[in-house]
Formats: sequence, structure tokens, C-alpha cells
Amino acid sequence: MEKDIQEILITEEQIQSRIRELGEILTEEYKDKDPVVVGVLKGVVVFYADMIRQLKVPCQMDFMWISSYAGTTTTGQMQVKRDVSVDIKGRHVLILEDIFDTGTSLDFTYKHLMAKEPASLKICTLLDKPSRRKEGITLQADFVGFTVPNAFVVGYGLDYNEHYRNLPYVGVLKPEAYQ
Ligand code: 5GP
Ligand code: MG
Repeated sequence: MEKDIQEILITEEQIQSRIRELGEILTEEYKDKDPVVVGVLKGVVVFYADMIRQLKVPCQMDFMWISSYAGTTTTGQMQVKRDVSVDIKGRHVLILEDIFDTGTSLDFTYKHLMAKEPASLKICTLLDKPSRRKEGITLQADFVGFTVPNAFVVGYGLDYNEHYRNLPYVGVLKPEAYQ
């Protein structure tokens, strides 16, 4: 697995240190709000597990799973495969994401959750790739771990063909690892 990595972009130590910083910010933001923290599967799983333990306030955990409609990937049409199970109407909701890339999935997730009338809805993404944002997407993340250049990254939850999610760092694959 490690042999397929060309470069480590963000080390395990850098990730953990940034998550502790974000934890302090989010703990202040959500004190007395009992937020529902919604993770978007599956890429967020590793970040979610670390991040939630740095949020030192009462909170509820929930997850969504979204995907593109089969055969219409070019149109970017998304569907909800698994919705949140907590009733978020009137609740403070924090979306956790692995990466904010073109913005198609976060935009969809945001609108989907907004329709349920939460008291507030904010976004925390581990990685932000602003250079890739699709035209017309004005949504912004409220909390960002790291801004990354326009490269396909893997590790710390992010996959290539479902592999590499268990690497503890974020790295770039060697070209020969793509097949
Ligand atoms: P979007 O383009 O809608 O912002 O991102 C959709 C999804 O594409 C992300 O949640 C993530 O699963 C995947 N994705 C986007 N950029 C990367 C990347 O650099 N590496 C990996 N492994 N997945 C990515
Ligand atoms: Mg993915």
C-alpha cells in the first residue's frame, strides 16, 4: 500500500494536530447547542471518528450515504442511499465531509438537509480543493482542515477503488498505481 504513494501531502501528526485545533473551535461553537453531527459516508469515517472525540460537548451522531445515479455521472445527479435517522428539524446540524471538491455532493447534501428545517446548518470539511469547484456553486465550508492543490489524494478515509482508506495520512498516488 505505502509503495503506491508518490508523496505524503499531510502527515498523520499534522492531521491530528489540526483536528485538535478544530475541536477547540467546534467545542466553543456548539456549547449548549446539542448538535447533530452528520457524516457523509464513506470517505468521512476516519475523520469523523477522530473529530467527534475532540468535540467536547453533548451531541448526537448520524450518517448519510449519497451517490450518483447509475449511468448519469456526467450530469452529476445525486440520490440519497441512506438518509439521516435523527429528526433534525429545529436542531443545530454540523455536516462532516472528507473533501470539498467540485462541490456537487456537498451542495446536494446541504440542500437535502436544509429542506428538513434545521435551526442551523454548517459544514466542516477535512480537505478543500477550491480550484476544482464547479461553476455556480457558491456554497462555502464554515470549517476547513486543510486546503489542498488540484491532485487526486488518498488515505485517511479517501479511496481509490475502495483501497487506501486505512492509510493514516493523506497522500498522492503514483501514476502506475492507477489501473
Ligand atoms: P465533489 O466533487 O462532489 O465535491 O466530491 C465528491 C466526492 O468525490 C468526495 O466526497 C470524494 O469521495 C470524492 N473525491 C473528490 N476529490 C477526491 C480526491 O482527491 N481523492 C479521493 N479519493 N476522492 C475524491
Ligand atoms: Mg469517494
